[in-house]
Amino acid sequence: GESVVVVGAGQAGCQVAVSLREQGHRGPLTLIGDEQAAPYQRPPLTKAYLAGETDLAGLVLRQDSYYTDHGIGLVTGERVIGVDRSARVVVLGCARTISYDHLVFATGARPRPLPIPGAEHVLNLRTVADADAIKQKLDGRTGLDVVVIGGGFIGLEFAAVVRKLRHEVTVVETQQRVMQRAVSEATAQHLTTRHRSEGVTVLTGTAVAAVGEGFVELTDGTVLVADLVVAGTGVIPNVEIAQRSGLACDDGIVVDAHLRTVDQRVHAVGDCARFASPLTGGLARLESVQNATDQATSVASAILGAAEPYTALPWFWSDQYDVKLQIAGLTDGYDRTVVVGDPAEGRFSVFCFSGDRLLGVEAYNRPIDFLMARRILEAGTSLTPETVARPGFDLRTSQQ
Ligand code: FAD
Repeated sequence: GESVVVVGAGQAGCQVAVSLREQGHRGPLTLIGDEQAAPYQRPPLTKAYLAGETDLAGLVLRQDSYYTDHGIGLVTGERVIGVDRSARVVVLGCARTISYDHLVFATGARPRPLPIPGAEHVLNLRTVADADAIKQKLDGRTGLDVVVIGGGFIGLEFAAVVRKLRHEVTVVETQQRVMQRAVSEATAQHLTTRHRSEGVTVLTGTAVAAVGEGFVELTDGTVLVADLVVAGTGVIPNVEIAQRSGLACDDGIVVDAHLRTVDQRVHAVGDCARFASPLTGGLARLESVQNATDQATSVASAILGAAEPYTALPWFWSDQYDVKLQIAGLTDGYDRTVVVGDPAEGRFSVFCFSGDRLLGVEAYNRPIDFLMARRILEAGTSLTPETVARPGFDLRTSQQ
């Protein structure tokens, strides 16, 4: 059979290999990752792993024996430093070369460097090595002053978990509210209130000007004591190898609706891929487990000859304290929201519309709404703001 090389052994890369074997691919298959660990899940890093409720063995996507049993050549701790598309080979840092019939970029993303003085004092949280470095700083103690730069998903999840470990936590967010890009006003408001009621200080509309040994200085002149500073200020996709091989990159490796580059033999999936999305009608780059695994499965099929474009509905989740936030669809660009349920009780769903079109639903401790919303959005069933706003509206009965 044809040989496949996957560059990047994270959530997406691992799934490409698994799906290829599940779908009957028998040719040589190599999965190359520059981290020491075998492919693992990142979401628990800001959740159970930092909380000390699981270890690396609990995060790995497959046991080591899986790769040997399925003839997957897993290479860890090795970087791919170049790709020669005309010769169809990848070059590893150790100078070894591996040839391919099909190449998949699954190189993910890395924390965006902070453009402030003292950035070297700031820790990131992307890898298990990052999480271990943070754990080492916390050192099993309590009552440390922890400053979190950025009130996005990673920053807020990290804040929740270190607060549970009984540290003093301050979140500094540049925007006027947390999760500006990711969720609606109503959901952001609730999460902020929840963090404050847990004793986390949430500062919005404030930026970090500089970081020093033991302190953080804000743009308004405030100085915060900080034993530990962690940033969650977004990521940039790892595109350099693809770019150097002559492929188009623009905030991601640019691929078509089949997740294919202009080179028929080369695909890109997961956090590193900027793909033609039927949902947005333009190019989209998504950062989620769902996107990584569904795109990987789709590319495995494409390599084996399937012709369907990638159309999976995006969804996402976040756990903070006992709040389970689940998002179906892409709510970005909404102009109307309808809140259903009981916000005072901490159980509600925010339906986000653009005009009369339902873009997505944010379910805050309402898992049934999340499941129903996924079905409705997948089926393309129309649901207007007026319907949702009707007293007694219930997603479970609305579709009967
Ligand atoms: P990655 O998982 O980043 O894997 C890419 C791999 O490729 C990395 O190991 C990288 O080191 C390697 N690599 C890059 N370049 C090379 C090279 N040249 N040679 C060899 N190897 C290379 N998503 C959710 O849906 N829900 C959540 O609750 C959630 N929580 C998260 C919490 C944290 C702390 C983080 C960091 C992410 C979270 N995410 C969550 C996002 C999710 O984990 C990512 O979207 C997902 O991991 C993307 O998978 P990927 O394979 O595209 O990239």
